Amino acid sequence: MKLNLLHKVSILLIISVLLLFCTASILMYRNSNAFMKNSVQNECIYLKYSIEVSGPEIFDFPLDEASSSRITLIDKDGTVLYDSFQDADTMENHGNRPEFIQAQKEGSWETVRYSETLSRQTFYYALLLNNHMVLRVSQTSGSVLLLMLAGFLVVMILLFLLLAFLMYHLQRREVEMVRREFSANVSHELKTPLMSISGYAEIMENGMVQEKDIPEFAGRIHHEAQRLTNLVNDIIQLSKLDEGAENMPFENIDIFELTQNVKKDLAIQAAKKKISVSLSGTCAFIYGNCQILYEMFFNLMDNAIRYTGPEGHVHVEISPSSHTVSWCITDNGIGIAEGDQERIFERFYRVDKSHSRATGGTGLGLSIVKHGAALHEAKLHLCSHLGEGTSITLVFPVSPRRTR
Ligand code: ADP
Repeated sequence: MKLNLLHKVSILLIISVLLLFCTASILMYRNSNAFMKNSVQNECIYLKYSIEVSGPEIFDFPLDEASSSRITLIDKDGTVLYDSFQDADTMENHGNRPEFIQAQKEGSWETVRYSETLSRQTFYYALLLNNHMVLRVSQTSGSVLLLMLAGFLVVMILLFLLLAFLMYHLQRREVEMVRREFSANVSHELKTPLMSISGYAEIMENGMVQEKDIPEFAGRIHHEAQRLTNLVNDIIQLSKLDEGAENMPFENIDIFELTQNVKKDLAIQAAKKKISVSLSGTCAFIYGNCQILYEMFFNLMDNAIRYTGPEGHVHVEISPSSHTVSWCITDNGIGIAEGDQERIFERFYRVDKSHSRATGGTGLGLSIVKHGAALHEAKLHLCSHLGEGTSITLVFPVSPRRTR
C-alpha cells in the first residue's frame, strides 16, 4: 500500500519537477537571450565609435582576449578584413551574409542563424560604418540552452537516485513489517490450539472429566490437533511459495482430472452438508506444479463448501481456449461483502474469525491461492454478493512465459 502511494507520489513529483524546470528554463533562456543580444548590440555600438574615433588601429589590440564575442570587420565588397576568432585571410567573402546585405541597406541589422565557422546557432548584430564597411559582433546562443539541459539532467538524475533510494528502503521496511506481522500471527495462531489441547489434556489428567465425557474431550483434542496440522501444512506451503519456483517441478497437468481428484477428496465434507458439487468442461492441460495446483483447487473448493449453507450448490467449470484455460468455481453460499473482497487474500484475514475456526479454516487458504496463481502466471478474479454467493476464476496461460 505504502509502496503504491510512493509510486504515485514519485510520478507526480517527477512531472512537477519537469514542468517547473521547463517553465524556469524557458523563462531563463528568454531572459538570458535578451541580455546576450543587448550586450552584443552595445558592444558593437561601442566598437563602432571606437573605430570612428581612433581608426582601424583598434584591431591591433588582442580583441579576442578582451571579449568573448566574435568581432568581424567586413569591407564594402564583402572581403573579411578582421575576425577575432579566425585568420581573416583564410575566410571566404561575406558579401552574401544576410546581416551584411541588410546592414548595407538599413544601417544596422540583427539576425539569428547557423554559423558555419562556429558550427552553432549564432546571434549576429551588424552596423554600417561611415566608410561603408560593416562591423559585425556575434555570440552563440546555444551555450545557455546546453547549460540548462546539463543542469536539468543533473537534477533529474539526482531526483531518480533519491526516489530509487527511498523506494528501496521503503520496500525493505515493508517486507520486514510483513514478515514480523506474519511471525506474530503465526505464533498467535499456533498458541491457540496448543493451549486448548493442553487445557483439555490437563482436565482429563486431573480426573475432572467423567467417563462418559471422555470421547467428547478426546474429540475436541483431535479437532484442535487437526487445526494445528492444517495450520502447519499451510505455513509450510506458503513459505515454499515465498521461496519461489526454484525447486518446484513443473510438468503438463490435466487440471480437469486434478479437479476430479479434489472433488473426491472433499466428498465427505460436501455430503455432511448435503452440498452438491458438480464439474463441467473437458480435459485441459496447463504447465504447472501439481502439488501447488492441487492445494489451490482444494482450498477454493473447500472454502466454497465451508461458506455455503446446507443443501447448497458448488459448481466448477473448466473452459480451455486457444491461449488460456479458465477454472471457475461458483457457490451459492454466504458471499463476501464488498469491503472485505480486497482483503481476503491477505494472510490470516478472515471475515468471520469464529466461523472460519469452527469450520477448520486457517486464514491462509486464499493467500496460497494468490501466490500459486502468481507462480503459474494466472489471473485471479473474484465476484461475490453478500447472501447470494461467490465466484472465483483462475485464468491460466496454456504455456507460461517461464521456460523450465
Ligand atoms: P479460511 O481458512 O478462514 O477460510 P481463506 O484464506 O481460505 O481462510 O479465506 C479467507 C476468508 O475469505 C475466509 O475466512 C472467509 O471469510 C472468506 N471466504 C473465502 N472463500 C469464501 C467463499 N467461497 N464464500 C464466502 N466467503 C469466503
